[in-house]
Amino acid sequence: MKILVVNCGSSSIKYQLIDMTNESVLAKGLVERIGIEGSVLTHQPGDRNKVVLTADIKNHSIGIQMVLEALTHKDHGVIKTMKEISAIGHRVVHGAEKFADSVLITPAVMEALEECIEMAPLHNPPNILGINACAELMPGVPQVGVFDTAFHQTMPKHAFLYGIPFEAYEKYGLRRYGFHGTSHRYVSQRAAEMLGQHLTSLRIITCHLGNGASLAAVKHGKSIDTSMGFTPLEGLVMGTRCGEIDPAIIPFLMKKENMTPDQIDNYLNKKSGVLGLSGISSDFRDIENAAKEGNERAELALEVFAYKVRKYIGGYVAAMGGVDAIVFTAGLGENSISMRDLICNGLEYLGTRIDPVKNNVRGKAQEISADGSKVKIFVIPTNEELVIARDTKEICANLI
Ligand code: ADP
Repeated sequence: MKILVVNCGSSSIKYQLIDMTNESVLAKGLVERIGIEGSVLTHQPGDRNKVVLTADIKNHSIGIQMVLEALTHKDHGVIKTMKEISAIGHRVVHGAEKFADSVLITPAVMEALEECIEMAPLHNPPNILGINACAELMPGVPQVGVFDTAFHQTMPKHAFLYGIPFEAYEKYGLRRYGFHGTSHRYVSQRAAEMLGQHLTSLRIITCHLGNGASLAAVKHGKSIDTSMGFTPLEGLVMGTRCGEIDPAIIPFLMKKENMTPDQIDNYLNKKSGVLGLSGISSDFRDIENAAKEGNERAELALEVFAYKVRKYIGGYVAAMGGVDAIVFTAGLGENSISMRDLICNGLEYLGTRIDPVKNNVRGKAQEISADGSKVKIFVIPTNEELVIARDTKEICANLI
């Protein structure tokens, strides 16, 4: 069974074609700048060389069409016809309280997805466009939605409610939802496998540290808390997002700087985080390099980031009554040796000791805690596409 995994952003489509007989990636790629001048498709067929195709890609439907052409192309294709694609799995950002699990796409599900747009106005519309484009181009092929929020639907009320009038939750669904759920779910499962123990007996803190960053407290396999909230703006200081701040800052700044709601939204989402703190970049590689050269604001930005992660770890140890493993994943978590070191430095009170030699690893699943460390520490590369493909396979097994 071959499954196409699709992740549509506002101007991009990421895709992978996965052969589920051995979970191998047959091809993967990225369509960029949809609807913008200079659109391009970068297609990687297996281990062969990348192919870069430029074209006027006006919308997601044309983008998906190009992906299908690339997958079936006589030179750089990996399948003979589209008919070899048994099912399609889509990453969908927001499922609100409607979806606690991945789901087969039906007209009723599409209606529910439309209702979730209000919660994720930037993310859900392109996800819906992608589903519609696939339905149009591959009629009859089953499609599955896998939600970033679903894994966190197990959070108890005391963890997801904000301290604002309860009516705001009832009326508008104002509560914490959490994101990156597919990643937190995958790496917590992998950590249990690497420990050789059942997930149901473990308390794991998963640290998804990329441009967007969040932590989750995974107790006995279920997310009981996570750092992102109603939107992906809450929680850690991120690449360009502010994370948790005193909400009183918002009206204060709006008055002082004469900002509209859209402007303050842009300020907190795009101009803040380690970019705003360092004044250098949102990319941790640039900030780490500047810090090495003695730039004080770069150093400060890294310290603020690490301190916040450490505080959340402490909070989640309290929430779970202990911790058995801490996992680092995503761009920064998988690759930054110095950031992992900075975060773990100061967690010794938990019985956590990082091994500097084992920590010298990038992008590879490995335990990095010292022998005898009570709490195990892992680097585990995330694989959201594989989770989407597995869920799609399971849900579609009886339909194909
Ligand atoms: P997202 O999917 O949220 O865009 P990623 O998980 O791809 O983010 O992570 C991207 C971030 O990871 C980059 O902005 C960069 O800060 C960080 N990163 C990637 N590689 C390295 C590295 N070798 N050292 C330090 N940081 C890195």
